[in-house]
Amino acid sequence: MYDQIIDKNNPDSALKVTKGVENPISINQNYLKNVRKRQELTVDDYVKGILEGNRTILARAITLVESNLYKHQALAQQVIERCLPHSGGSVRLGITGVPGVGKSTTIESLGKMLTNQGHKVAVLAIDPSSERSGGSILGDKTRMELLASDPNAFIRPSPSAGSLGGVARKTREIIILCEAAGFDVVIIETVGVGQSEVLAHSMVDFFLLLQLANAGDELQGIKRGIMEMADAIAINKCEGKEKERGELAASNYRNALHLFPPTESGWKPKVFTCSAYENNGIDTIWKTVMEYVDMTKKTGYFYQNRNTQNLRILSESINQALRDNFYQSEIIKEKLELAKDDILDNKISAYIIAQRLIDEYFESLKTK
Ligand code: GDP
Repeated sequence: MYDQIIDKNNPDSALKVTKGVENPISINQNYLKNVRKRQELTVDDYVKGILEGNRTILARAITLVESNLYKHQALAQQVIERCLPHSGGSVRLGITGVPGVGKSTTIESLGKMLTNQGHKVAVLAIDPSSERSGGSILGDKTRMELLASDPNAFIRPSPSAGSLGGVARKTREIIILCEAAGFDVVIIETVGVGQSEVLAHSMVDFFLLLQLANAGDELQGIKRGIMEMADAIAINKCEGKEKERGELAASNYRNALHLFPPTESGWKPKVFTCSAYENNGIDTIWKTVMEYVDMTKKTGYFYQNRNTQNLRILSESINQALRDNFYQSEIIKEKLELAKDDILDNKISAYIIAQRLIDEYFESLKTK
């Protein structure tokens, strides 16, 4: 039935090789005919979809923001610009804590409570590990399944970008899109073990630190700096026998916070216990956030803080663009290498060389 092939180099061989059957086509050709290319959306389509609260279009717009392709970036910037007047209407809440403290469990409980009250909740993440490995500390497990299936919630893992600064920029832009899509609570989750919480803090109204009762500060890797940034500390996993220990830890934290200088907002950071697992104290988190928002809106600090954050973005963006342009300049690239040798040979001071390079850079712009 099958053709038999005889080895031409060895016709006397007793081995006969059968030709076999051809591999079938792996995709049904009729199916392919029916698959249409995903329709490209215009800026108008994106903006209209986002303002209507269409989650699919919001997700596609976020993918554009996250893309590093020039074409996508250009489109994304236009969409962001058009969404900007519709943004700013949410409460931006940062949540940080070491891995395992219960961030996702807390966000899920809080998120469900808020959607039940009629809020629309977006959860974004800033994952420091996305900078280096492309992997993630926050996103590698199945997280917040209940909230993820809630039509009034939107969960997006951390954008991965070349640098943490890139992740921060993209997250800020994603906040604008989510707000324009009608999300009135935006939660930014981050791991409290490095620079990522500083970035998260720079884009939120209220910053919550989750802690555990049964570990010392050193063990939890929490630096004084994070405690200073916190508007509230919630001691999680305080149920059953742990409750007493939790209260003791809470009072220790309260005492420690007294020693810190007063906050710029005039707000006195709160400390309380909770159990995300048993859904206890989660309402206290939201009540505290609301108290803070009410107070700071009355004093004007809420708006002042957002303005400060925006102005900081302006100066950071200018600094970054100037730096990139300087270091990418051919003249500078060449002279910098020579300058490094001179400095290492102790021929000239680094300050003088720096000034000379800057002068030459500006001179080179004139001749362009
Ligand atoms: P994350 O890494 O900070 O996001 O922490 P997870 O939310 O993933 O929680 C880590 C582990 O702690 C999980 O096994 C949770 O079920 C558990 N957990 C979270 N909250 C509580 C709590 O309030 N009480 C107890 N006993 N366990 C909790």
